[in-house]
Amino acid sequence: MNRKTIKLNSVWMQELTWQDVNEYLKKNDIAIIPVGSTEEHGPAGPLGVDSYAAIALAEDIAKQSGVLVTPPIWFGDSSHHSAFPGTISLRPTTLIEIIKDVSKSLARHGFKKILIINGHKMSNLPALTIATKELHEYELHDVFFGIIDPWKIARKISTEIKSTNEHHSGELELSHVWYKYPRLIKKNKLTTKKVNFEKIFSKYSNDDLFGGGGELIDILWNSYEQRAFAPTGSFSASNKASSEKGKKYHDYMVEVVVDFIKWLKTYKGPIGNTVPKK
Ligand SMILES: [Zn+2]
Repeated sequence: MNRKTIKLNSVWMQELTWQDVNEYLKKNDIAIIPVGSTEEHGPAGPLGVDSYAAIALAEDIAKQSGVLVTPPIWFGDSSHHSAFPGTISLRPTTLIEIIKDVSKSLARHGFKKILIINGHKMSNLPALTIATKELHEYELHDVFFGIIDPWKIARKISTEIKSTNEHHSGELELSHVWYKYPRLIKKNKLTTKKVNFEKIFSKYSNDDLFGGGGELIDILWNSYEQRAFAPTGSFSASNKASSEKGKKYHDYMVEVVVDFIKWLKTYKGPIGNTVPKK
């Protein structure tokens, strides 16, 4: 824990008083916003997999770095999963507006460095990128924004851990939730089956979010098509998932981001000073 950080009972802002946050802001200016989704994750994973991933990472990173976390955003852009009950999706424009409103509320009181931890991988990234790019350019010039995603910070470790191709409801993300929230994974529903992407979407598709080196062409599918090609909701084999794998995956990502925040605390903008205003 950063010694400069005052003693607070929680890293979660919803568990603190406004005066706690006020004290925090006298010496600190970093906030983490965890963003996930509420969408089907096959027969073995709960609807909240992506949110739990973001929450678990945010909490452990915040504890080790001495920074605060906002309440999680449990919904994301999940339209392509909408053919499954329980999926609750935001339109990208709604997610953009939520990120903007939360960020502006934080900035108003002195948070200057905002990190979004996204558990929903590429499905949320377009909205998160548009929201933060527009804020940083047009409204909050002097606020730093960073977007953190397992898809990008676990590239190296994922290939060491996983035994098969990782896509939606795969071995890695289910292991992650298994490690942190073991009661939420239905172990007897883990599967050996996977969607044959090449057969459905040509050889220019990729069924491994953490690998695959070929040329890619993005083909968009809707929720009706998804329910047809992945009737259980699972895209990847998950039978080799385990709590141990989840721990290795989680700890590695926490270490990466804690190291990043150590750097961020000293960062004063790209020209070595505060980011210029208009
Ligand atoms: Zn997921």
